[in-house]
Amino acid sequence: MPADALSARCLDTMPDSPKINLLDFDRDGLVEFFTARGEKPFRATQLMKWIYGMGVTDFESMTNIGKPLRAGLAADTAIRLPEIAEDNQSEDGSRKWLFRLDDGNCIETVYIPETDRGTLCVSSQVGCMLNCSFCSTATQGFNRNLSTGEIIAQVWMAVNLLGQTSDGPRLVTNVVMMGMGEPLLNYDNVISAMRIMLDDFGYGLSKRRVTLSTAGVVPAIKQLREDCDVSLAVSLHAPDDALRNELVPLNRKYPIRELLDTCKAYVGEGRRRVTFEYVMLAGVNDSDSHARALVKCLRGVPAKVNLIPFNPFPTTCYQRSEESRIDRFFEILNRAGIVTITRRTRGDDIDAACGQLAGRFQDRTRRRERVIANFQVQEHAN
Ligand code: SAH
Repeated sequence: MPADALSARCLDTMPDSPKINLLDFDRDGLVEFFTARGEKPFRATQLMKWIYGMGVTDFESMTNIGKPLRAGLAADTAIRLPEIAEDNQSEDGSRKWLFRLDDGNCIETVYIPETDRGTLCVSSQVGCMLNCSFCSTATQGFNRNLSTGEIIAQVWMAVNLLGQTSDGPRLVTNVVMMGMGEPLLNYDNVISAMRIMLDDFGYGLSKRRVTLSTAGVVPAIKQLREDCDVSLAVSLHAPDDALRNELVPLNRKYPIRELLDTCKAYVGEGRRRVTFEYVMLAGVNDSDSHARALVKCLRGVPAKVNLIPFNPFPTTCYQRSEESRIDRFFEILNRAGIVTITRRTRGDDIDAACGQLAGRFQDRTRRRERVIANFQVQEHAN
């Protein structure tokens, strides 16, 4: 939020004006916020240590912050967390939460523990406007962007519900922006939230351990490299434009070649690679010739490929590829020297797997108008 908008909100004396959500600010934002109130900039890191380091959201407990400031913060700001609408634990240890936001909309967040790490899959929008043909989030359309606070609150909730303590082992070691929504179409809020994930006074995660997954919004990938170059995952799913246009309609705007050139530039000359996600759809994109075309298409791109067995949902017309087909596809990529993994499906019993995150909308009333307005904004931005 720019400083002038910020002070306008600080000066806002309307009795029913909503309180400022302190989770909406990354460190720079908090410094601006405190400075605008005539406070010292170090209050920003002090507050972040309480909120993210210690999980404290009650101003009264923030004992190194003077009483008058505590009272001031309590009067016109809030640390807003979602309600837990559902908390499902899978037999394999994965956990899926349905969080209810202030406006009644619900979003999903998934925790996947593995032997050497714990990954949190975070949502960036309520619904999604990209309409990928194999994705269950697409079936519900787009409702709205999440605020920075609503994105980082998913991490806060997971960390605290899992019982991670500041001196104990880390439970959330990795974050993937791979839940509901297209993170690069909610650019500013996602960047601020990721900055909090990376900040030593936030969750102190390394850039390697925060991954943003995109369907391929080319201009925003270029911008991301400048602003916050976390690990990049790209949902490719097809080796040619005709098929990809069908599966990921955004491809009509940013076709494969342009996307791959942008990915190459994103990682540059170093050791980093882009992860390409490829959902295995029986009889659609899983033949030997698709695999060979994929090898060709990724030539010269520092790539890793993640084969994701398709996770079906009630209204889909697709089916998951047979295991033997996935193995064969894997072999072809592997033999061509492409680092490939087949993602094990986790949390199947609680519908927590990739592409099954549904959330729930409360307010559908002006959805169409909002979608149109949003597209216009995007067109404008490009
Ligand atoms: N919009 C972003 C992030 C959300 S989707 C993106 O497109 O990357 C996260 C991942 O789940 C993507 O790779 C997506 O293609 C995959 N996915 C979506 N639906 C799926 C399904 N039904 N089965 C398996 N993977 C799916």
